[in-house]
Amino acid sequence: MQKMLNRLCISIVLLASFHINAIDMNYMRELTGNQKNLIPVLVLGSGVAGLSAAIYTARAQLHTVVMAGNEPGGQLMGSTLVENMPGVLAVPGYKVISSIEKQARELDVIIFNDTVQVIEHDESKGYFKVITENGRILYALSLVIATGASPNKLHIPGEKEYANAGVFTCAVCDCRQATGKKVVVVGGGDSAIEAVMHLAPYAKEITLLVRAGQMRASYAMQEKLRKYEHVDIQFHKKIIEILGQANEIEPCVSHVILQDTLSHKIEKIAAECVFVAIGHTPNSSIFSQLITMDDQGYISLQGRSQKTTIPGIFAAGDVADPIYKQAGKASGDGIAAGLDAIAYLHSQGLSVTAAQELSACYFRNEIENN
Ligand code: NDP
Repeated sequence: MQKMLNRLCISIVLLASFHINAIDMNYMRELTGNQKNLIPVLVLGSGVAGLSAAIYTARAQLHTVVMAGNEPGGQLMGSTLVENMPGVLAVPGYKVISSIEKQARELDVIIFNDTVQVIEHDESKGYFKVITENGRILYALSLVIATGASPNKLHIPGEKEYANAGVFTCAVCDCRQATGKKVVVVGGGDSAIEAVMHLAPYAKEITLLVRAGQMRASYAMQEKLRKYEHVDIQFHKKIIEILGQANEIEPCVSHVILQDTLSHKIEKIAAECVFVAIGHTPNSSIFSQLITMDDQGYISLQGRSQKTTIPGIFAAGDVADPIYKQAGKASGDGIAAGLDAIAYLHSQGLSVTAAQELSACYFRNEIENN
């Protein structure tokens, strides 16, 4: 998603004029009378966070639309087996998403494929004008940003071919794939050490490849590695290729090619699983001029809420979570964002009566929903 967003012409215009605290209902009627493009709650992103938010706002009788983005369903779609989401018995990630999506659609949430390109904020009118990649112009009274974060990639041969078939990015999700196997973990930060700790009870042996001469991980985390006798840490080692049988019915990884970053010497070692833990990039660049985020691009939230620095914009899931990045947590964030959006819209005068009055103007996207 980040890749696509970066390619888009990004223009965020802040049209701040005099401040009013409520949605200008007369203006809304006039604005949307013929265009049928008003959306009380527009959720950007269709992963577990976005869909959870949508379920809550739809149940509060607020017309809710989810724009799926470039990675419909989010990161869970690529997760082999979800075993740590409370209430969900070991199922592939896509099944979790399709079940939440079904639940949302049954509550009349509209889910459509498109990607946000431009957001204009006119504070005086109480709406956000959203222009999409496919040229749609939508008027959202509130936004829930749930665009997720993408695990950073190595961009080496074999990485794509064996994705989820020996190459993984979430040790918490996929640790059981390492059972009895020779495993390579790539990275030198806290995430890499955490990955080793999750994999250690399962893997036969683990080689941690650190490309630099030292780790970026905290001292405390590095100390935790000492207790594992079957973990070998190799510094100055860069992984340059992943090998295996790609064209089999069940593709599998057999070796990796390493390069010593000092001597440039190449070697081939046996490995049946590769866990890449080299950080994440939040999919937030398109919002960077609109709301505040930290130096890594994670959206900043106000206190214990999902509120961003702009009233009416909420964020949930990995795009605002530099630490946990778990599906269950994202779902909880989404629920909180949904509740925050409901409270915001009520405070702006969007009562059940007002919402019904405007309903003829709502965006419905009949074609894709049929
Ligand atoms: P970091 O940015 O901290 O570390 C990334 C690591 O990956 C670095 O060692 C980096 O090497 C390495 N790396 C980057 N690109 C490549 C590449 N192409 N090939 C090989 N190695 C590469 O990311 P983390 O995800 O580990 O941590 C992110 C933040 O989350 C940190 O602030 C961390 O403290 C926090 N965190 C905390 C945890 C905890 O406290 N339990 C758990 C997990 C994360 P180099 O140093 O050479 O650039």
